[in-house]
Amino acid sequence: MKKYGIMGGTFDPIHHGHLVIANEVLSLFDLDKIIFIPTGMPPHKIVEGLTSPYHRYMMTQFATMTNPDFDVSDIETKKSTMSYTIDTLKELISGNEEEKFYFITGTDAVLDLPSWKNTEEILSLCTFIAVNRPGYIVDGLDKKIKAITDKYGGEIYITKAPQLHISSTDIRNRIASKRPVKYLLPEMVEQYILKNGLYQEIQLKCL
Ligand code: ATP
Ligand code: MG
Repeated sequence: MKKYGIMGGTFDPIHHGHLVIANEVLSLFDLDKIIFIPTGMPPHKIVEGLTSPYHRYMMTQFATMTNPDFDVSDIETKKSTMSYTIDTLKELISGNEEEKFYFITGTDAVLDLPSWKNTEEILSLCTFIAVNRPGYIVDGLDKKIKAITDKYGGEIYITKAPQLHISSTDIRNRIASKRPVKYLLPEMVEQYILKNGLYQEIQLKCL
């Protein structure tokens, strides 16, 4: 049986906070591979100015290139509509029923789980690993997470990784206001952003 980690996100852009938690979970849970899945284009994000799925997919490819245990999937970005996690999971698992899947999120994202489509079914298909995220220190996190599994079933682990206080929102705003982003994200991603003139305008927070 293989063990796969799934790291979903808008990755607009991908940064070292994402890469560090993925690598830590890979090692702590002895996973075979991490699959990064940039999200497709949710309709409301077009209004807010989410970068195109193509650019976000390309940046994720560049960011993960040097790690043989990191893969990138275009399962969501290749679709013209927004994908629900439940549909993505079913597509990934189909034909791989004997493998085990772990969904990695920050502590901010895991608490949103009850608002996802088919929470109960999602939790029956994969184990969640919630990683502490600086800036999102939640009072009574254990209790809140227990309340989710009490209601929907499944398993959610809370784990620690090196804390990097980095967010894509901050990176976008730094670029728009010509402040440095070096060392917050991989060099190749920074070069890609510059070459394609991304993030020139201050944007709203994307979740
Ligand atoms: P944005 O500011 O646009 O929301 P983001 O930095 O939160 O971007 P996302 O693509 O929204 O990045 O996040 C994908 C996943 O990575 C989420 O589960 C989020 O909680 C987690 N994550 C993002 N940054 C960090 C970080 N610095 N430390 C731990 N987890 C993180
Ligand atoms: Mg976010």
